[in-house]
Amino acid sequence: MVTFQQIQELVNFRSEAFPVVSAYLNTDLRRVSKDQIRITLKAMIKARQEELRDHPLNHRQEASVKEDFKKLEAFVTTELFPEENRGYVVFSCSGEDFWQVYPIPQRVKNALIVDPDIYIRPLLAILNQFHRFAFVVVDQRRVQVFEMYMGKIEEYTHLISPAVPGKVRYAGWYGLEEKRVHRHIEHHVQEHYKRVSNILFQLMNRHQWDYFILGGQSHELPRFEKHLHRYIVDRIVKRVDMEPFSWDVNRIKKEVLDTEQRFMRKRWEKMIGWLITEAKKDHKAALGLKSVLQAANMGNIRLLMIEEDRGLPGYECFECGYLAIRNTVCPICGTPMQRMDDLFDEIIENTVNFNGDYYQVPSGTMLSEYGGIGAFLRFEAPKEA
Ligand SMILES: [Zn+2]
Repeated sequence: MVTFQQIQELVNFRSEAFPVVSAYLNTDLRRVSKDQIRITLKAMIKARQEELRDHPLNHRQEASVKEDFKKLEAFVTTELFPEENRGYVVFSCSGEDFWQVYPIPQRVKNALIVDPDIYIRPLLAILNQFHRFAFVVVDQRRVQVFEMYMGKIEEYTHLISPAVPGKVRYAGWYGLEEKRVHRHIEHHVQEHYKRVSNILFQLMNRHQWDYFILGGQSHELPRFEKHLHRYIVDRIVKRVDMEPFSWDVNRIKKEVLDTEQRFMRKRWEKMIGWLITEAKKDHKAALGLKSVLQAANMGNIRLLMIEEDRGLPGYECFECGYLAIRNTVCPICGTPMQRMDDLFDEIIENTVNFNGDYYQVPSGTMLSEYGGIGAFLRFEAPKEA
């Protein structure tokens, strides 16, 4: 799983001495075959090698980049590309012994960049769309903790599991003794909840968890919640009435996925509803490919929303980046335009390059009626002639 620490390490990485190779790979096996993935990478490597001939690197830099390419080729040869990973982003800087892999559950546009700086912006735009969910199962003596992020689950129970206090031994079942024993057990339960709450708060900070799902017996959960930090309580999105510790990891995973999808869907629908209202009032919003394209060509997209699995070939001017649905000579600079496999990918790239955000939304929302694409804009779009 992609950890918060990994992302921190990436954001902070810089090499003074060596270029970094950033690879974005479309590995959606519904659209491309494993052979195609390898062929595409090979072609991109060849193109970069030819360009590098005109910008000679020093000996050590050249060796580092060569090693980066070799590692990438080895990676696509051995990687199994499971279906849930629609794309991969890989960064390599062999001279600094740096190598990071990000499996991505959504579309990624192929790109291979060799540059002193990491080409990180498209990855950050993707990561921006995902939240970290923690699933916490408790009862009076035990606790289980899972984190789920970008479709991958990881268990943290070993970091928090208490040394379970043994059964409370006592003599006699009656009178004062019984009361004392009861208080004793109750004290242990409260201590357990307090301890779990403290560790959860630390884990949340360390791993940057965004939302929480609690699981346990419905009469017991409020007793536990009393001890939770306010910050966590505000981020509980669901309470699951369940027999503690009876679910295997797959069932937990499914529950988090379902909760996450419902939670996000509600959010999308609200945003899309707002977008449609704004667009109808001619405010800073665009709906449908034509209007969004116009906005993209002006660097006017603040937040782009695209329905998953949308795609359409189009054209781009390689001189100035102008995008069009039909093949023309670029109206900005007069250069003949190039055919692109997917205009939607180009609009995403354009948005990210102009520092806008983008969200991939599930199909079947109101956005479907507008060709699956819409955007909030920075300034009001000029009226069409
Ligand atoms: Zn142009």
